[in-house]
Amino acid sequence: MSKTLTTAGGHPVAENQHSLTAGERGPILIQDTHLIEKLAHFNRERIPERVVHARGAGAYGTFTVTSDISKWTRAELFSRVGKKTPIFLRFSTVAGEKGSAETERDPRGFALKFYTEEGIWDLVGNNTPVFFERDPSKFPDFIHSQKRDPVTGYKNPKRMWDYWARSPEAMHQITILFSDRGIPDGYRFMNGYGSHTFSFWNRKGERFWVKFHFKSKQGIKNLTVARATELAGSDPDYATRDLFQAIERGDFPKWKVCIQVMPEAEASQYQFNPFDLTKVWPHKDYPLQEIGELELNRNPKNYFAEVEQAAFSPANMPPGIGASPDKMLQARLFAYPDAQRYRLGVNYQLLPVNRSLSPVNVYHRDGSMRFDENGTHDNYEPNGFGGPVQDSSVCEPPLALSGSANRYDQHKGNDDYTQAGNLYRMLSPEERDRLTTTIAGTMKGLEKGIVQPNLEHFVKCDPEYGAKIAEKLNMSL
Ligand code: NDP
Repeated sequence: MSKTLTTAGGHPVAENQHSLTAGERGPILIQDTHLIEKLAHFNRERIPERVVHARGAGAYGTFTVTSDISKWTRAELFSRVGKKTPIFLRFSTVAGEKGSAETERDPRGFALKFYTEEGIWDLVGNNTPVFFERDPSKFPDFIHSQKRDPVTGYKNPKRMWDYWARSPEAMHQITILFSDRGIPDGYRFMNGYGSHTFSFWNRKGERFWVKFHFKSKQGIKNLTVARATELAGSDPDYATRDLFQAIERGDFPKWKVCIQVMPEAEASQYQFNPFDLTKVWPHKDYPLQEIGELELNRNPKNYFAEVEQAAFSPANMPPGIGASPDKMLQARLFAYPDAQRYRLGVNYQLLPVNRSLSPVNVYHRDGSMRFDENGTHDNYEPNGFGGPVQDSSVCEPPLALSGSANRYDQHKGNDDYTQAGNLYRMLSPEERDRLTTTIAGTMKGLEKGIVQPNLEHFVKCDPEYGAKIAEKLNMSL
């Protein structure tokens, strides 16, 4: 037998097909409070969509430790081989709105939430090991250049290349974006990266700088431009459905989890700033070390409740894992929780998908949508009620800082080209051909004043790289 329909207040509803009217032809009476509740709730079904990473899909799974790394970190989730931690992983595109096609050329978000016994750990990465920017003051400008023109309301490659002409630090990420990996075949056939440099610290108080890599066990698969374009029209939900259906049929996607580790003292001696988000650490200097496996094995029961309301913050780190001086990471420590407070409200961490499995003992009180017990008498500290107290045993080792407070020129002494060139030189002739054709395709018809400085950047990455793009644009260098 079906359940009885109720109002949000729990009262049985007598009539859900016809509004209450004065006479058969109307008008409608304001005392049809069920109709009013229905319309009012419907009007409020959407919450602000994320400004970036609006379009996404997610699933639950398990992280399993495969090698002992307790010498680097005291984090309990890594404490023994075989240990399992539940996780939630949200994939996304970046620039498109919530309903946009999932086969667009764009980086993909790879946002992981680990439900550890020491609180939530959010590792909010991408499918690329680097990013377009190294200084967060440029982030809103960069995103504006990728999004819709405020006058016309449509996206325009002129704005992208105009911005990049003045932003050579983006060359490495541009090369990845326009390579074959710029359009992954759904979310299962791509790698994930923590991208930033993070830190590990152990029980002896030693700190290590660390990068996280998630290598797809399904292998890398990309869509051709032609196929992606076709799918954007015929199947814009391609990636979400592919992920959901794979998990439904028990074909659980997996990633090999690896790290690169740098002892704290080496950072100042290294050939470049290891906290620069536009650069990778070459594997020959810092080899990948396998530490675990990630598996997705359970679909959410409700997209809005669990995927749309999933909220990630790189500031969520259990003892043993910490930040680094990476300027982009520093900004995200603020910007992510700030975005969630705006999007979902100040109590967003109480929502089931975001809630820590370990006890949460805070002195925060009240705020919109507070739906837990909201504490007792002790809403201040120190107190005589036996309320929660700090635990100095989880104190992060001190970090020595040096230098003058200043606004440093990000291009001074920084090599924006070599690593982009290394990637170009790694590609096969066919891959180079597709890369340069794609880049030239988006630049076609743009004025020389925008194209020329970009060509000069590509030449600095590799003379052949720039020459091939110029040739495909019928331009001389
Ligand atoms: P390696 O030869 O040791 O590593 C090359 C890496 O490049 C592999 O991890 C490979 O990933 C990845 N790769 C292959 N094709 C592409 C592509 N089209 N887009 C992005 N990544 C790709 O060399 P280095 O460590 O010295 O790095 C050389 C270049 O490789 C870098 O400049 C960087 O662009 C790229 N890279 C380096 C990474 C690093 O952490 N060192 C990570 C990812 C890319 P896979 O094994 O999955 O095929």
